[in-house]
Amino acid sequence: MLGKNRVRLFIGIAIVLFAIIKYCASSETNPYTGKKQHISLSPEEEIAIGLQSAPQMAQQHGGLHPENKYQLLVDQVGGKLVKNSIAAETPYQFEFHLLADENVINAFALPGGQVFITYALFSQLQNEDQLAGVLGHEIGHVIGRHSADRISKQGLTQGLLSGVAVGSDSQATTQMAAVIANVVNMKYGRDDELESDDLGVKFMIESGYNPEEMIGVMEILKQAAGPNRTPEFQSTHPDPENRIEKIEEAIDKYKTL
Ligand SMILES: [Zn+2]
Repeated sequence: MLGKNRVRLFIGIAIVLFAIIKYCASSETNPYTGKKQHISLSPEEEIAIGLQSAPQMAQQHGGLHPENKYQLLVDQVGGKLVKNSIAAETPYQFEFHLLADENVINAFALPGGQVFITYALFSQLQNEDQLAGVLGHEIGHVIGRHSADRISKQGLTQGLLSGVAVGSDSQATTQMAAVIANVVNMKYGRDDELESDDLGVKFMIESGYNPEEMIGVMEILKQAAGPNRTPEFQSTHPDPENRIEKIEEAIDKYKTL
């Protein structure tokens, strides 16, 4: 009896060990950030998931903003940041969308390069440099593969990929968008936020923007939070106060390069 239990225990240990080895074997170094990650999605799969869920994500914020002139500015600034940075060397297909939502101060990125900013946030920005700060930060989330990392950790990969496989079938797409919305709207880890701030500052400098304006963005977020209300951007992007210090460090680091 004891022998049988021992065999079972060994099998159990073997299974756990195998899982650990498999996990470590899937570890790779992110070529754009140098960080070690365990990601069960290829960049192509990230792009497919992002593209397929983008329309529904836009819908949740009142669709795209109708004013062409603003969308053009968002395209221009986003495109410039990509062109002058390592983002241009990635397989990711960056697209920048201005959402009509006038109430929820928010910006977010889907895996693969679909980036969104709400009009509520856009209209608070005082200059192009601040817009570059917001978009640069979001490009950082894409390149850092932060959503893909989280999808992998939560075991959502298979479900999402089967959603992609089914294609434009509306029910599958709706479910997928719901899953992605959950991933994107959850609080990013502190490390992910700081890495995106750091990359955002780097991208601003590389494109000739004033990186000090990233601090301006933090001030806007802080004010928008107010004493009683917590906008969504605040919940997904916590503690602007604590981030300012790190942003200043990043500015010093990259300005001297
Ligand atoms: Zn962020």
